[in-house]
Amino acid sequence: MPAPAALDSAEALHGLEVWFLTGSQHLYGDETLRQVAEQSREIAGVLASSPGIPVRVVWQPVLTRPEDIRRVMLAANGDDRVIGVIAWMHTFSPAKMWIAGLASLDKPLLHLHTQANVALPWAAIDFDFMNLNQAAHGDREFGYIQARLGVRRKTVVGHVSDPRVTAQVGTWTRAAAGWAATRTLRLARFGDNMRFVAVTEGDKTEAEAVFGVQVNTWGVNDLAAAVAEVTEAEIDDLIAEYEERYDVAPELRPGGERQQSLRDGAAIEAGLRSFLGQGGFGAFTTNFEDLGALKQLPGLGVQRLMAEGYGFGAEGDWKTAVLVRAAKVMGAGLPGGASLMEDYTYDLTPGDERILGAHMLEVCPTLTAGRPRLEIHPLAIGNRQDPVRLVFTADPGPGIVVALSDMRDRFRMVANVVEVVPPSQPLPRLPVGRAVWRPAPDFPTAATAWLQAGGAHHTVMSTAVGAEAFADYARMAGVELLVIDEATTVRAFENEIRWNAAYYRLAGGI
Ligand code: MN
Repeated sequence: MPAPAALDSAEALHGLEVWFLTGSQHLYGDETLRQVAEQSREIAGVLASSPGIPVRVVWQPVLTRPEDIRRVMLAANGDDRVIGVIAWMHTFSPAKMWIAGLASLDKPLLHLHTQANVALPWAAIDFDFMNLNQAAHGDREFGYIQARLGVRRKTVVGHVSDPRVTAQVGTWTRAAAGWAATRTLRLARFGDNMRFVAVTEGDKTEAEAVFGVQVNTWGVNDLAAAVAEVTEAEIDDLIAEYEERYDVAPELRPGGERQQSLRDGAAIEAGLRSFLGQGGFGAFTTNFEDLGALKQLPGLGVQRLMAEGYGFGAEGDWKTAVLVRAAKVMGAGLPGGASLMEDYTYDLTPGDERILGAHMLEVCPTLTAGRPRLEIHPLAIGNRQDPVRLVFTADPGPGIVVALSDMRDRFRMVANVVEVVPPSQPLPRLPVGRAVWRPAPDFPTAATAWLQAGGAHHTVMSTAVGAEAFADYARMAGVELLVIDEATTVRAFENEIRWNAAYYRLAGGI
């Protein structure tokens, strides 16, 4: 998927495809195969017209021979529009026929275990019907070969008329879109890591091998040079857009005493956009310790670029930038948003514990449907002029925070299902983007589990997609994911960490 990123519309993912593959064999004769084709087309059609599935579902001719199966997998690999493959064994498709094809496929696979009919025609059923509608054992044969070959896949079970089924397929297509975006992602780091910080470090070569993302660093003055190229007319256009979309503080408005600061902030935004656009980047990082000739720590511009779909991480945190970009693509067109987030401070009122999250400036305004305020305030960090920033509070509702840590021998994702809640009182002296949330299952369990897992202080917060999308994504990537949710207990979670350590070392081989 090309970078970036007008991801705020429902059409954002329409150019992408998943292919619908149906397995059968020649044993049953032409008439049965004709019916198989007709019924599988109908099922693909239901998926294609489902509003919960944001990509095109493309039916492919029924597969009955190993060479055809291998060829269609290679064709899927070679077509950049194709982000995944759905397979269903309408009849019995002897699974050795699928070995070469499954070994060739390098895109996500969903095994749809369904059948054409809902209820059985009990009084009329005969062996012709049984032979036509035998996914119940055809798909078991397929499940065996996938399990034996160790094929990573999602299994979805049920009739396609069931909204639960199309919702699961839809979530998987979103994860596949996020995965496709990550595999082609170019990420620009302006400056290196914040000095002495551990969790934002990581193996960039391994990241490219595992996630496909290219992580490279530019001097911040390369960005400053792009900012210096920005014209007054470009700045005027941005100022007009700010006036339209935000409540701009009077001191920043035309004629206001600090209007120049807003113009400086707009120039940083325009410079960032041109640098990222020219390089085909879909994500970036900054570092407040290394601002070169920039007049302000980039705040407003970062917030707005995130809102357009760019991934972002602060303090050189490229791993979180990858997650933000993936979450942006997965949530394209859905209500809610995704942002860099940082667990900042707690309200430890017993039984009512909540987490207050924010960052110095860079929280994405897609976390609110409200109208942000555009303000300027001093910032002790960064040693530059006061930065402009969007000020808002994340909307209440369900969400998730996800972090990515480099555990030395592998990457680990840690996710916590949360409920975003309103602050107890207004926060007049905290003029940044911020969010307040309650972690599941409860604060002590969630925080204990997070700390035991070595989850980062930087996360992506998504209010558009949830745990299922990230689980699908992690499975596609083959990356460990530890989920903290309503079912979590500390004892089981600690065991999961131990068992995973053994599993991933064995699975990685020598
Ligand atoms: Mn930070």
